[in-house]
Amino acid sequence: MTTEISSAGPAFTELGLAEPILRAVADTGYTTPTPIQAQAIPQVLAGGDLLAAAQTGTGKTAGFTLPILHLLHSRKVETRPGRPRCLILVPTRELAAQVEESVKTYGKHLSLTSMVMFGGVNINPQFKALKSRVDLLVATPGRLLDHLGQKTVDLSGVEILVLDEADRMLDMGFIRDIKKVLAVLPKARQTLLFSATFSDEIRALANGLLHNPKSVEVARRNTTVEVVEQSMHRVPQAHKRDLLVHLVRRHDWQQVLVFTRTKHGANKLAEKLMKEGIAAAAIHGNKSQAARTRALASFKDGSVRVLVATDIAARGIDIDQLPQVVNFELPNVPEDYVHRIGRTGRAGATGCALSLVDDEEMGYLRDIEKLIKRSIVRVEVDPAFVPPARHELASDERPPQGRGAPRQNNGPRQGRPQGQGQPASRNASGRVSPGQGKPGAAAVKPVPRPGPQPAAHPKKPRPQAALFSSKPGSRGH
Ligand code: AMP
Repeated sequence: MTTEISSAGPAFTELGLAEPILRAVADTGYTTPTPIQAQAIPQVLAGGDLLAAAQTGTGKTAGFTLPILHLLHSRKVETRPGRPRCLILVPTRELAAQVEESVKTYGKHLSLTSMVMFGGVNINPQFKALKSRVDLLVATPGRLLDHLGQKTVDLSGVEILVLDEADRMLDMGFIRDIKKVLAVLPKARQTLLFSATFSDEIRALANGLLHNPKSVEVARRNTTVEVVEQSMHRVPQAHKRDLLVHLVRRHDWQQVLVFTRTKHGANKLAEKLMKEGIAAAAIHGNKSQAARTRALASFKDGSVRVLVATDIAARGIDIDQLPQVVNFELPNVPEDYVHRIGRTGRAGATGCALSLVDDEEMGYLRDIEKLIKRSIVRVEVDPAFVPPARHELASDERPPQGRGAPRQNNGPRQGRPQGQGQPASRNASGRVSPGQGKPGAAAVKPVPRPGPQPAAHPKKPRPQAALFSSKPGSRGH
């Protein structure tokens, strides 16, 4: 649970939700609506369109699921197989599965039915499910279009449309798919748009889509920034994999989430860690759903110490209160940095976020510091770290021949040209001396002297409680 969850607003019973829904909420143990729920639920119940600014972790899923269940339950209409009454579009498979899980949890005392639909899995069970009644359909846009093309789903009965994490759907290049879906939806419907950020693109989408929307907003999770200890090492890209191995051992990290910018980078890093005897797994969009689920479960039960993820794969997954997050590369979208570090230090827990920053990334760093309105503490790389000799580097780790060498990107995101970094002089080992980085170079904190190296990799009990909460209705699967 996050700090935003607590609120002194109305009780659930005061929101006008039907009794079976209130009973399901009570079963989950939630007593008080979160701020987004307190604001959104009455608006959705009133039947109008809604524009909501809320991030994952604010309780937004119940914020739209509860009133939708109420509306569908209270309107008696004739249903037909494969013809949903509510469509919830989400960017990722994980989020789709989690949202549908919430629908099931909160709707368990109702006779409404739901289905989740995403790509990367066999389509046949979905064909089969669509032969039955489906009241609420939670889908990623690509697979939904497949079904539309094959006429296995009929969207002509949609009364309520939700675009969840709309900003992320646009970042992932789903705008065309969304427009194709919109084209086949009934014009007379209720539309709810949830987004963590409000770019011009989102506003344009909202303007074209929503009619006289009410808007609700809860505090951005940027507040996490205050409770997470953030630091960075200046390190050449080519040394990062070895440095991470060193750090995991040196600090005896038992559970660390590492973000890479590319899928290829995630795989390579997980391979490197495993070669070094550190249990690791990678999750990204090219992995099958089963592989992602397996990796997450192993991370949760401690058999995997390092989970390497791309932003998109990690998005929407309810893994929080992690002790340590590492940005193997800085994200090129500054807001992603906030999402990433939001995985740690929630609800007052202490969390650390360490970024490994190459010269090439200094431009990204400046954008991030501008967004979070603080400078990230520069910490010198542990003197005990021995960078790999050039001949030991895998071909893709070797420093590029010239600055601005092309780097893989993860999709059609608002990238920035490479090579905006400030060149920094380095000593023979490739380390940057204190004071060389800009801006905020004065904030250099010395690295504590290395303690005794832990022998093998002892298994330490680790704080598990908040990771994948097992409460019904929470997102742990
Ligand atoms: P979401 O923002 O929808 O991803 O929800 C974040 C987490 O908050 C989920 O694990 C929910 O189970 C939990 N949650 C949602 N509503 C409440 C509530 N009213 N009280 C406590 N926890 C909640």
